[in-house]
Amino acid sequence: MKLLVTGGAGYIGSVVTAQLLAADHEVVVVDDMSTGHADAVPAGATLVQGTLRSSARPVLDGGGFDAVLHFAAKSLVGESVQQPGLYWDKNLGETLALLDAMRISGVSRIVFSSTAATYGEPESTPIMETDPTRPTNPYGASKLAIDTCLTSFAALHGLGAVSLRYFNVAGACGPYGERHAVETHLIPNVLAVARGARESVSLFGDDYPTPDGTCIRDYIHVADLAAAHLLALGSCRPGTHEIYNLGSGDGSSVAEVVGVCRAVTGHPIPVVTSPRRTGDPAVLVASSAKIQAALGWKPSRDLHAMVADAWAFLQ
Ligand code: UDP
Repeated sequence: MKLLVTGGAGYIGSVVTAQLLAADHEVVVVDDMSTGHADAVPAGATLVQGTLRSSARPVLDGGGFDAVLHFAAKSLVGESVQQPGLYWDKNLGETLALLDAMRISGVSRIVFSSTAATYGEPESTPIMETDPTRPTNPYGASKLAIDTCLTSFAALHGLGAVSLRYFNVAGACGPYGERHAVETHLIPNVLAVARGARESVSLFGDDYPTPDGTCIRDYIHVADLAAAHLLALGSCRPGTHEIYNLGSGDGSSVAEVVGVCRAVTGHPIPVVTSPRRTGDPAVLVASSAKIQAALGWKPSRDLHAMVADAWAFLQ
């Protein structure tokens, strides 16, 4: 297939692009390079630098594309609280420009990078796709708005859409991994200590109602996540919008993650217990039963593999 990957110079987009190329698809990446890296775009893909507002239409028009995989987004929760307008504009506004360009160009399939942040504070665990969506920040709200748009575009314009709601993505695939200028995620921050780039890692809260007092999250290897995109792509059906959670169904606490990082790196990794981070729910674990049943997807790499691959990438 001929595919447009938006945000293909970023962490997840680059890994998915590599898997698409390995599966013999033709890939054009559009990325505004605000947080991406040109050298993260796998060789074999064509890179067009630009926003979706400026580039989606010229790239898609007459280009013979079969589908779009849409990763381009702002994705920092704290920044979204400080600058909500930026998140509505870049996430929702640019997606509307993309959907418009797809409709005009007759491209009718899209796989969208949604998020667990659409659910907000869960009522029960593991989280199912049918659970209430009550995002607690503009980042999650903007992604939920896009999911809502996709549902109505599917009904009205015959779009075939799949949203994948990621839980905590981690790990790397050979040369493709996480390289954020502003790093907020746990595993890269812990590994930065092992690399000697920082002295200690802050552990945000040890008084949660969990067995060891630290927050529990559902970590998923980026290679398993990428594989789900290829299955989702093959499953897009005109006029339907499917939403699937993507997680392992298993939770690991912050303290457990630090323990695995110590085991993988052999570094003592000092931890400083700090106050809770605003807006962090105690437990976020996905039910992935729906995608397992519908598409036969199954995660195959555990937390140790995620940390080992992220560690190899950093070195
Ligand atoms: N966390 C932490 N120290 C850090 C970064 C994160 O203790 O330097 C905790 C955070 O409070 C949360 C968990 O690790 O409980 C996962 O956070 P992350 O930002 O990686 O992902 P999130 O679940 O917020 O999307």
